[in-house]
Amino acid sequence: MTGAGAPSEPLAAIFERLIRAHGPISLMHYMGEVNARYYASRDPLGGDGDFITAPEISQMFGELIGLWLADMWIRAGREDVIHYVELGPGRGTLARDALRAARRYGFSPKVHLVESSTALKAIQLEAVPHAQWHDDLSTVPGDAPVLVVANEFLDALPVRQLVMTPEGWRERMVDWVDGRFVPMAGRQPMDAALPEERRQAEPGTIVETCPGAAAIVYEVAGRLVDQGGAALFIDYGHDVTRNGSTLQAVRAHRMVDPFTMPGEADLTAHVDFASLAPMAASRGCRWLGTVPQGRWLRELGIETRTEALAARAPEHAAALHSQKDRLIGEGQMGALFKVMGLAGPTWPDGVGF
Ligand code: SAH
Repeated sequence: MTGAGAPSEPLAAIFERLIRAHGPISLMHYMGEVNARYYASRDPLGGDGDFITAPEISQMFGELIGLWLADMWIRAGREDVIHYVELGPGRGTLARDALRAARRYGFSPKVHLVESSTALKAIQLEAVPHAQWHDDLSTVPGDAPVLVVANEFLDALPVRQLVMTPEGWRERMVDWVDGRFVPMAGRQPMDAALPEERRQAEPGTIVETCPGAAAIVYEVAGRLVDQGGAALFIDYGHDVTRNGSTLQAVRAHRMVDPFTMPGEADLTAHVDFASLAPMAASRGCRWLGTVPQGRWLRELGIETRTEALAARAPEHAAALHSQKDRLIGEGQMGALFKVMGLAGPTWPDGVGF
């Protein structure tokens, strides 16, 4: 953390002072500080929020995830003690819907929520009162299998960008010029930070990585091997590694410039699922697959579930169908969002992969 100044001091003022004193900061530092401030100070998913996520669109999303988890637990032999672990649970809606749906199958895990935002923890407490909270994964118990869920969590972790210049690869930094924050190439050579096969590139090429996402997947995969269990990482992103910046800022449901008003808009980047699967496999964990969200939800029976709910409440039929279309439609969340499944070596295959 930058840590400078009172928490109420605008982040822009802190960055300005820091850059004036020490020179440009890395884009990764910038994004990390921006999101820490952004999430600590508000509920981005509320009524007047900045963006909406799948569990907030429809209860069916969390319910189907709950059924997936219950099915895994049953086929793995119904262990008595099991931990449900959710990373970045937002308003707690997914956990609430998933646990309610899974309870009907006898699945009643201990609930662990990994959340850094005090503002969001307070809201999660209402949705999932019996949960235990953690600042990071390190305090989650290691005594029993874990079922890990992370929806739109990895995309909020800071990315590092390298840019090709006529002088070679440089880290992308943020400078303060003429009263504005602007991205620029750093001075220090960074060629060694890239694998050899990616070093040849046109000037202007950007390579983006997310060390935080890699570290989380590495840690979860290690636990699945040691403790048993399974994990679902759901996010928007690509399953083939490619070049270019995917950094974006969203405020009040609109794209805005990531470099204006730091701390007032959510910064995200696409998740590079292609690099995460081998990371998990390198620990001896099973990669079940990475599939488009639309396909996965259809395989889990979202169409039937929509019909069943609509039959029970015909007055909501139109709304239910439009929520379902939003979750699975090709032009909506169905294709851009991916679901990556992982499982411990002795755990079964999961539905939908
Ligand atoms: N999963 C929720 C919320 C997504 S928003 C949903 O689908 O609706 C991202 C969530 O991750 C928020 O809860 C945010 O506070 C949390 N988060 C972001 N960075 C984090 C970090 N470094 N450690 C823990 N939680 C973090």
